[in-house]
Amino acid sequence: MRDFTYQGLASRVLFGRGTVSAIRREVEALGCQRILVVSTSQQATDANRVKDQLGELHVATFVGAAMHTPTDVTARVLDVVREHAVDGVVAIGGGSSIGLSKAIALHTDLPQVAVPTTYAGSEMTPIIGQTENGVKTTQRTLKVLPETVIYDVELTLTLPVLMSAASGLNALAHAAEALYAPDSNPVVSLMAAEGIAALYKSLPRIKQNSSDIEARTEALYGSWLCGICLASTSMGLHHKLCHTLGGALNLPHAETHAVVLPHALAFNAPAVGDALTIMQNSVGGGDVAAKLYDVTKGSGAPVSLRDLGMTQADIGVVVEAVMAKPYANPMPLSSLMIEKLVSNAWAGVRPSLSTYAHA
Ligand code: NAD
Repeated sequence: MRDFTYQGLASRVLFGRGTVSAIRREVEALGCQRILVVSTSQQATDANRVKDQLGELHVATFVGAAMHTPTDVTARVLDVVREHAVDGVVAIGGGSSIGLSKAIALHTDLPQVAVPTTYAGSEMTPIIGQTENGVKTTQRTLKVLPETVIYDVELTLTLPVLMSAASGLNALAHAAEALYAPDSNPVVSLMAAEGIAALYKSLPRIKQNSSDIEARTEALYGSWLCGICLASTSMGLHHKLCHTLGGALNLPHAETHAVVLPHALAFNAPAVGDALTIMQNSVGGGDVAAKLYDVTKGSGAPVSLRDLGMTQADIGVVVEAVMAKPYANPMPLSSLMIEKLVSNAWAGVRPSLSTYAHA
């Protein structure tokens, strides 16, 4: 075993079915009396449900959250915070809603209760990515880590099948990269192995029946574990690529992760040793890159960056951006190999563990 450092992050987690009914008690436990509820316009009904449960503790709702946390949206919500003397925030939704709540906390240090409804995992992390003038920057600070997280499986039943698969692959990517991160540790490896297995088993069942509550439970459990993996370690090539594709080309977050992950794993596989064995075991053996590609394809979600709106001419732009800033990755990077990887992901080629083996 290698030497390691483990830093636990403090947050309170409730997990189950119907757990959102505990929202008022949880908000009161944080000492909050003037709550702002944030979400997206698509989830106004979920936001209303939370509002009703908060009763007189609710003072305002803002349903303008958007992907990649644009700073102009944050400026608008901060006006609402001041206007209503808000003393706590409840975010209900995916990473976009939780990102907005984190942005409020970054500016105000207000306590947050996150109620995630996708598998993105942001609720467990002290990470915030914000976009200004088309440039996305990410920082880590404990200020943005939600104090309380309420996982309610019932709220995920409405997540469309395609988004469930893409979001599940997004979560799985956190665990995969945590396994080979330079700051990985045995506890994170346990969570990563369990998280990958839970998602790998449950996503095809959700495709068959999106109301399968057992499969939904397993997927949300996996996403929680994967969120902790993201919070605890540094991410490598896969996250860097997706960050670039999302920030520079505004490609959809979860879907981009789902397309890129099998390629990034195939690329890194020859250099990750035990991490690959753990991943293989979690998916029941075989070629993990090809198997994850098949999960995405089987769900009907896109498997090519071309289908997400990227043009072939953008391949060079992405390669240049990825190579511009050095960062830790098990496999050394070269422009030629990254171009091969991005070209394959763009075209939707089914990768295998031997695709980059002789690079
Ligand atoms: P999202 O939050 O943008 O949600 C996508 C759409 O699905 C939205 O319209 C949303 O309202 C809707 N939706 C969410 N849950 C639903 C449900 N249960 N039923 C029906 N509709 C539902 O998507 P996402 O992939 O969860 O989040 C992406 C954002 O999260 C990006 O900005 C990304 O950068 C960020 N993120 C941040 C971290 C972090 O640690 N900071 C981690 C992962 C993702």
